[in-house]
Amino acid sequence: MVEYKLIIYYRGTGDIMRDEFTQATKDLLANRVGWKCSNPNCRKGTRGAAIEKEDIINIGVAAHITAASKGGPRYDESLTSHERKSYDNGIWLCQSCSKLIDSDVDRYTVDKLKKWKELSEEMAILDMEESGESGNSKDRDILMFFLQCFDRPAFRDPIYQEGCMEDFDEAIADTILALNTGILRTRDGHIIKESSGKSALSNNKWKEKLDVIGDMLSALRKRLKIAKTAGAYSMYGKGNVMYYFYDRELEEWFDSTRCEILKVLSDVCEDAGLEGLRFPKHKEYW
Ligand SMILES: [Zn+2]
Repeated sequence: MVEYKLIIYYRGTGDIMRDEFTQATKDLLANRVGWKCSNPNCRKGTRGAAIEKEDIINIGVAAHITAASKGGPRYDESLTSHERKSYDNGIWLCQSCSKLIDSDVDRYTVDKLKKWKELSEEMAILDMEESGESGNSKDRDILMFFLQCFDRPAFRDPIYQEGCMEDFDEAIADTILALNTGILRTRDGHIIKESSGKSALSNNKWKEKLDVIGDMLSALRKRLKIAKTAGAYSMYGKGNVMYYFYDRELEEWFDSTRCEILKVLSDVCEDAGLEGLRFPKHKEYW
């Protein structure tokens, strides 16, 4: 009985102490990122027309970077109440991403969330600048950008020749980010090319094919992670390091999947009338 009362008391106080954003701050957070989720791997639109009424549906959340109350995710007691509910401490996210960032605070750190916010604001400006162009030529520009993103050693060398699996994994991760956001980053986080993500393509057939490419890229990363944990390969050689896969089928899967990715991308580009692909066109393998 006593315990029960204590819990009620604690929750009651917690509610009072929350440093909530004002409506004006929430609106500012949403507007500065064009009402899109700030997670660069999501970018979901968070506002749309409701079906029946003249209403607007909002699935966005003004999330706290450091928690609104003591004991919450990433809570920072050095902040004043005013700072805690200020624009600087907020980030606009879709509902599922707002739950995601609170479920794993070691992964979704203050620094990471601030970087997301910064990227998202930059992308909102890029989105605005692009809106004047016509659909087809804009699609071609995006595809040209993707061609550049895939023109890298991670898509050229057979897996046993990959100098460093960690770099390979990073290259795939950066390619996924580029595909989703139109931003290609160097390893230190510097932005080197800017375009739009695949969701900006106006041709739905191409968009679907690029979604397939995105799924295949994610599969590459997942299987690489499993292979590493399971000790499915080992290194040999000095200087020019090679990898030996104990499972030949797995090795072949890494090579054939990347070939398939390039093939799908080549097909889309051919369909768009883009010539001069610089990567070797899908042979058997390499
Ligand atoms: Zn999201």
